[in-house]
Amino acid sequence: MLWKLKQLQGPRTMETVHLGLDDTDSSEGMCTTYLATLIVERLLDYNCEFLDYPNLIRLNPNIPWKTRGNAAICLRFRTDLVDAVFDECRDIVSMYSESKRGKADPGLVLLKSHKIPGDFRRLSERALHTVISRSEVVKILKQYNVRHYQEGSGRGLIGALSAIGNSLDKDHTYELIAYRPLKANGPRKIDLHSIFHMDEATKSHTFNNLDPEEGRILISSHGPDPVLFGIRGEDPHLLKEAASMLRLGEPKERMMIFRSNQGTGEHLREELDPQAPAYNSGKIRGMVSENPMTGRGGHVFFSLENSKGALNCAVYEPTGSMKKKAALLQQGDSIEVGGGIRKKGNKHGKILNVEYLKVLALSKSFIQRNPLCSNCGKKMTSDGYVNGFKCGSCKTRSRRVQFRVSRRMLKRGLYLPHPSAQRHLSKPLQRHGREKDREPARPSGMWFEIF
Ligand code: ATP
Repeated sequence: MLWKLKQLQGPRTMETVHLGLDDTDSSEGMCTTYLATLIVERLLDYNCEFLDYPNLIRLNPNIPWKTRGNAAICLRFRTDLVDAVFDECRDIVSMYSESKRGKADPGLVLLKSHKIPGDFRRLSERALHTVISRSEVVKILKQYNVRHYQEGSGRGLIGALSAIGNSLDKDHTYELIAYRPLKANGPRKIDLHSIFHMDEATKSHTFNNLDPEEGRILISSHGPDPVLFGIRGEDPHLLKEAASMLRLGEPKERMMIFRSNQGTGEHLREELDPQAPAYNSGKIRGMVSENPMTGRGGHVFFSLENSKGALNCAVYEPTGSMKKKAALLQQGDSIEVGGGIRKKGNKHGKILNVEYLKVLALSKSFIQRNPLCSNCGKKMTSDGYVNGFKCGSCKTRSRRVQFRVSRRMLKRGLYLPHPSAQRHLSKPLQRHGREKDREPARPSGMWFEIF
């Protein structure tokens, strides 16, 4: 082994390395997380010392050119063979990415530094909620003299650098992903009862295993990628226990545990300006300025206004219960919504695709009712627009209308889409109030296995 030879030659001078990777897959095959496992396998041969679990960083989910969930990867480790390691990783990207079929634009970035520079952090922050240009990334790479590699248009450099810049210092989650052999195809064979059992037994520390409202399994997909299943949760060790509860009808080829910003709602932290350009994500507070309208397909539309302007909002049918709640909004309600700006189209203007709805205060509405007779106390009846009201018992007349506050069917609170309509980054209800606020320890236990 190479590292053994090195050891014989004297003490090792280890350097801290952050390796970012993105855009290696397409809707027809591969998965950037799987490619990361191939790289980790090779890095372990080189005796690299991992400083963190592999980071699975989700970026702005409203970028239209993403393949699926806009994921990028960063591996953080120490090595004394920086250049050799980079060459190996570059070869793996070349050999396995979808770029060889012209279907991906990979980017690989290697930053050699103990600290992550502010420019990386700031760009990464913006990549969560805005659109970043490749030229901006290339400028930073040049400025810091960072070794990098690209294929195709090299758009993957954006995600690769952004992944390095997000060190997940605050809230984070974990995902254990198990893979099947690359050539495997057909539906994933996982016993359904074991999934329900695992979900029930691990409810307090895993999330979005299934969507009970839609009756859908969310730990596995139907795509041509090698992912067999992925379980998301709060603790890497408990995820291994959860995975062991599944009864599989086909072999696992490998598994790896990632640390991630999934389930943290990180992309919706920034305030959105009503004038924000298309594909920006964030949150905005304001008053409902027009009553909602349910359009074709069951989608609900309303507009919101604050001191900076007005914004049209859409809550789509697949969001299920959130759409039903949005339909109950009324003019004057004070709300906060989070989501992404959809580009203006031929049939619609710029619109916010709502990812969560928080009702802060409900406006009052009044219903007119017939007054009670001031003489005998009986309920009066209408005597036409001109005459007002008349008491049927003592014939007293009145022009005074009475109102009562109408009962609202909506309550203050947070409303989210069905789990199956949530983004990877969306913070599920059960994670609210459970955010982590400290840096994690180094990876421990069997976080990477080949079977
Ligand atoms: P998967 O989730 O299956 O790994 P994906 O959804 O991450 O795939 P990619 O194939 O990686 O999709 O394509 C996303 C592309 O968008 C990448 O090239 C990435 O660099 C780029 N990208 C990510 N975030 C931004 C952003 N904020 N601005 C501009 N480009 C971005």
